[in-house]
Amino acid sequence: MADVVVVGAGVIGLATAWHLAGASLSVSVLDAGPLGGQSSHAAAGILGPLVESRDDGPRTRLLWESSAAFPGWIDALREDSAIDPEFEPTGILRQVAAAERADLESSLGWRRQYSPEVEWLEDADPAWPAAIWSPHEGQIRGPSYVAALAQAAATRGVDIRLGEPVRRIRVGRGRVEGVDTPRQSLAARHVVLAAGAWAGALLPEAEPLPVLPIRGQALALKATRPPFPHVVFGPAGYLAPKRDGLVVVGATEDADAGFDARVTLAGIAALSDVVRVMSPELLPLPFDGAWAGLRPATPDGRPLIGPWPGADGLIIAAGHYRNGLLLSPITARLVGELIRGEAPSLDLAPFRPERFHRR
Ligand SMILES: Cc1cc2nc3c(=O)[nH]c(=O)nc-3n(C[C@H](O)[C@H](O)[C@H](O)COP(=O)(O)OP(=O)(O)OC[C@H]3O[C@@H](n4cnc5c(N)ncnc54)[C@H](O)[C@@H]3O)c2cc1C
Repeated sequence: MADVVVVGAGVIGLATAWHLAGASLSVSVLDAGPLGGQSSHAAAGILGPLVESRDDGPRTRLLWESSAAFPGWIDALREDSAIDPEFEPTGILRQVAAAERADLESSLGWRRQYSPEVEWLEDADPAWPAAIWSPHEGQIRGPSYVAALAQAAATRGVDIRLGEPVRRIRVGRGRVEGVDTPRQSLAARHVVLAAGAWAGALLPEAEPLPVLPIRGQALALKATRPPFPHVVFGPAGYLAPKRDGLVVVGATEDADAGFDARVTLAGIAALSDVVRVMSPELLPLPFDGAWAGLRPATPDGRPLIGPWPGADGLIIAAGHYRNGLLLSPITARLVGELIRGEAPSLDLAPFRPERFHRR
């Protein structure tokens, strides 16, 4: 019997598995498809706890605390995987449009409570009369991060089984017993449900969790070197320059695409507009491809992290929406604390899955 079976080999499942294996637990990860084959592979890699927040609240605190864990997390990941996920804590510039100026200027107070060095810039660029400079945010490279987590987990002895869909989470007498796949039944003391946008449908309940897919499309341009040293955010998207000169342009939010993860012409047009408005000098760069992924969203925008009522040993780690890479270290840590029976190091009340459980 495994100590833990993790359902889903995206960044949340892999980060959790790697972390748990570091605490000497035996861990198996099952995924229906390839590694990080869904949302995680599509991610631009931005680690933006403040740029991704509109106000102060439990979600912003969760994002910030996870971001603060990144330097040590990446050091350990590099050591266990020998893969460099290109962690760049170079800061993020947020271009401010006239219509959002008053709102963003009045948000400086709470932003500076997290990072006193956040600056309001005037006349930094003729096209953008105002901007916010936030020096303690940054980025990684999404696909390398997925590969590093998988390798690091394998180094710690995690058994990763791909192409192995979980059909059912088995529960008996109020306790999780394991999972069933078309090929086998696996017994486990704990099951971590980290199946991204598919998490809702897998619960052993008639009433599924409201995790909804929100498609995000992104594209890449290829420069010979990074055109600027940091990520730039604008009102409708972002530009994330990678070390080798690739510039990731993201991302659409397609709420009505369901589970269709294909790229559309409308998506490409919207992303081209992001470049035209934010940095038109990039328009002549060669196009280097486009992709899409299904972000796991929840109705209140907060992830689901915590035990599932009615099945001891079943823990949900899903619904990370636009910030799954950023939230992977803290999610892994909190799930680890729950499995080891320790008091959570952060108040889990705002993230408890049972907030959507009517019975
Ligand atoms: C275009 C785009 C850009 C993004 N940019 C960023 C960014 O810059 N920074 C950031 O932090 N986040 C970003 N995100 C969000 C981030 O990608 C997600 O929040 C994150 O990947 C969610 O990870 P996950 O492991 O929960 O889900 P996923 O990566 O979707 O993984 C879930 C896994 O579960 C598996 N699964 C499903 N059903 C079953 C089953 N029955 N049995 C077994 N396995 C199953 C799937 O095959 C999948 O591999 C972006 C997303 C998109 C789409």
